[in-house]
Amino acid sequence: MENKTKYILNTFFTYHKIDRSKIDIHYGINLESKIQIKQSELIYIFNDNFDINYKNVVYKKWLNTDIPFLFDRNTEKEIFEEIDGNIIINYDIIASSFYLLSGYSETVAEEKDELGRILYKNSIQHKLKITEIPVVNYYFNILKTAIEKAYNKKIETNIWGKFKFATCLTHDIDYIRTPWTANGLKNIFTSNIVSTINIPIKKITQTKSWLNFKEIINIEKKYNAKSTFFILPNNKKSEKGYDNADYTIKDIAPYLEFIESEGFEIGIHPSICTHKNCSSLKTEITKLAKYNPQSCRFHFLIFRPETTRNTLEVNNLNTDSTLGFTEHIGFRNSFCLPFYLYNFENDKQSKILEIPLNIMDVTLFDKRFMNISHDKVLSRIENIIKEIEKFNGVLIINWHNNYLSDFLYKGWKDLYIKLLDKLHNKNSLLTDVYTISTQIKNIN
Ligand SMILES: [Zn+2]
Repeated sequence: MENKTKYILNTFFTYHKIDRSKIDIHYGINLESKIQIKQSELIYIFNDNFDINYKNVVYKKWLNTDIPFLFDRNTEKEIFEEIDGNIIINYDIIASSFYLLSGYSETVAEEKDELGRILYKNSIQHKLKITEIPVVNYYFNILKTAIEKAYNKKIETNIWGKFKFATCLTHDIDYIRTPWTANGLKNIFTSNIVSTINIPIKKITQTKSWLNFKEIINIEKKYNAKSTFFILPNNKKSEKGYDNADYTIKDIAPYLEFIESEGFEIGIHPSICTHKNCSSLKTEITKLAKYNPQSCRFHFLIFRPETTRNTLEVNNLNTDSTLGFTEHIGFRNSFCLPFYLYNFENDKQSKILEIPLNIMDVTLFDKRFMNISHDKVLSRIENIIKEIEKFNGVLIINWHNNYLSDFLYKGWKDLYIKLLDKLHNKNSLLTDVYTISTQIKNIN
């Protein structure tokens, strides 16, 4: 448990401005440390690859919110108490933090979809109804409060300077060829039927089109914002017939030059199955080499904890932004700030920084997922934004280029502009993945 504890405390101290060498925290009750955190006997599950029984989880209120404690079984005691000037935290916030932040439950989950993704309905977040609550930030707030009490010091948590929180704007670029025909339209929704790939690029630029990068950049520049365009360097269908890109890098080269010249980021959106295939990921990185992509988000949000971290490491991609649920908005790792992935193979913190995805247009729009009309979206996501503001966190948004055109997705571009306006008025930094990750990496 030593490395897991180190991982959690490292993450905690990244976002709490206090000299950690002067803070005496002990995981377990030793009757002498200033802060002692009770250790649950259930931590053995991490060695045996067992999951917790979520039906036995207990809840306590913290910051007026019901928070689950996954490794405790009764609620008699206060969350913390003072004994001889020391603070005892009576619930195992280290084990619970590790379980959620590392995505441990995904490593033991058995049921997956056809693409190898864990199903949202089986996630611990869904089972405990905590998908829209960054529970780990609540645990960290308990620890922060305990340290402030024990050392009689206030701890600053805002790392965003004059901004209250940050928003990371991203665009996955899957399709650029406007499907004029019914067949083309079908192609978008069913992943097969007739390909739109042969429509010449010249024709696209002359008509209503999803090749709208310039317009996106102009919208964002009005708010002094920047964003990341995740580009998909593979236009072949996957083995099971799923769509990858409907363009080639050559097709859109002048548009990529433009993104770069405007100071916006080009990231890589690796195709289906690259999440577990080091050499095919390498091939795709090579196709984008000219733009030196630093940030990654896998197409269809496919990410397996056993293989994907390693695939990224081998290819020297140190920033990923894949971890969100396709089916639901919220916090897949129950944390509203970037965090390092955990390497379960060698039981250590990995060097891959995760910028976890919270809100995606498809998730909101699609009938199979949340099925919300665009005029209801701002009120529906209000709570997630409030949670992120509360902890000076980062909101990560994915708005596809097609949702920024009125063709097929009327109303979604205006919604995006309203959202930028709202976040700007709430004093959020609006920037790309690269800027966020550089700032976090420079803290340590
Ligand atoms: Zn995609």
